[in-house]
Amino acid sequence: MSRIVIVGGYVATVDAAGAEHDGGHVIVDDGVITAVGAGRADAAARAGAEVINASGCLVTPGLVNTHHHLYQWLTRGYAQDSILFDWLTSLYPLWSQIDAGLTGAGAAGAMAVLARSGCTTVGDHHYIFPRGSGDIVGAIVEAASSIGVRLHATRGSMDLGRSQGGLPPDFAVETTDAALAASQTAVERYHDASFGSLVRVAIAPCSPFSVTADLLREAAVLARSLGVRLHTHASETVEEDAYCLERFHMSPTEYLGSLGWLGDDVWMAHGVHLDEPAIARYAATGTGVAHCPSSNARLAAGIAPVRALLDAGVAVGLGVDGAASNESGQLGVEIRESVLMNRLRTGSDSMSVRDALRVATMGGARVLGRQAEIGSLEPGKLADIAVWKIDGVEHAGILDPVAALGLGALPPLKRLLVGGRTVVSDATLVTAEEGLVAERVARASRELAERL
Ligand code: ZN
Repeated sequence: MSRIVIVGGYVATVDAAGAEHDGGHVIVDDGVITAVGAGRADAAARAGAEVINASGCLVTPGLVNTHHHLYQWLTRGYAQDSILFDWLTSLYPLWSQIDAGLTGAGAAGAMAVLARSGCTTVGDHHYIFPRGSGDIVGAIVEAASSIGVRLHATRGSMDLGRSQGGLPPDFAVETTDAALAASQTAVERYHDASFGSLVRVAIAPCSPFSVTADLLREAAVLARSLGVRLHTHASETVEEDAYCLERFHMSPTEYLGSLGWLGDDVWMAHGVHLDEPAIARYAATGTGVAHCPSSNARLAAGIAPVRALLDAGVAVGLGVDGAASNESGQLGVEIRESVLMNRLRTGSDSMSVRDALRVATMGGARVLGRQAEIGSLEPGKLADIAVWKIDGVEHAGILDPVAALGLGALPPLKRLLVGGRTVVSDATLVTAEEGLVAERVARASRELAERL
């Protein structure tokens, strides 16, 4: 048995009671948490273990990212001043040049940055599959394995080109049948439903304005027959609302609901423009939301009604979204963004740092259906743990260790564990050579731009 004992840190468990232990301990055996509590743990428990001295540190569950487009790591800095529809229209031609090799390079870069910002579980949404582009989902799975993070890949799709009234150009879309067949293949090839799984796959047609009703309806049937989750973008912008109203005479929530897309196996990215009836439907059906504050700000989409969603009992997780609309790509930073933006929307008492930490951990675990395995520091859960160093000049002396993460500068990681395996140590990625990952990203970004 391999044992790790984390001692001396401020442990924020994010369990149901919100228990916190100043100078507490966490014991990990073979990648699973076996004890959490106050004090240093007794000497017998520490004997023969790897002891991580977390004094001067905040210890939290690893953060869970519920929405991303990893390939966009190669297209940062484009269309800097556009709103969503214009931004998409200008980027589709570039994205249509992507292939498995380039995607793998971008995904490794994006996941290295996620890991260095406290993220242990990565949700990805890949929806662009040019003809002859190879096994893109496989490349993302391989990149996640090289960085050492837990992956929730989704096989996305688009089948509604401009000539049919959709937003993407016709050359960027697949046929409905091809998208469904490839989604099934991706699930059969890579989805692992077991406890502690490092790779799960969901099915994820892209959005109401890039996908046909047939594909949405059939994708829901397929996902349920395969026992996997469903993901898409919904209620991101006022333009999307207007599109759905004009084309379907329904709001995005009504439209998606009519196609089988509300349920406790569904999570939507954004949910910025959800009104009271829509929030009630999300709550009644168990539909989850990926809250992406920086991306929503970058594209001036608005601020999601997170307080109202949480009060209604909706599962809300945090997401960085793709790096083309959030060049930071750091999940830890989104905790602070979420606190600040929800206060701008709803008032100073609408989002505490502990609310935001819960969204970033247990909230994300619920959104991905992993609440029994990850999201809090409790016996029986996987040892996905972030140890944040808060005794440096940025945070030393701060009254509340959780505020160091939720209001202060993003602290460096003393350690990041995924299933008990060290992925980051002393702020450095240890699973891959950061310089090589960066070089590969630079080369792939250049190559993609030159293909256009
Ligand atoms: Zn997105």
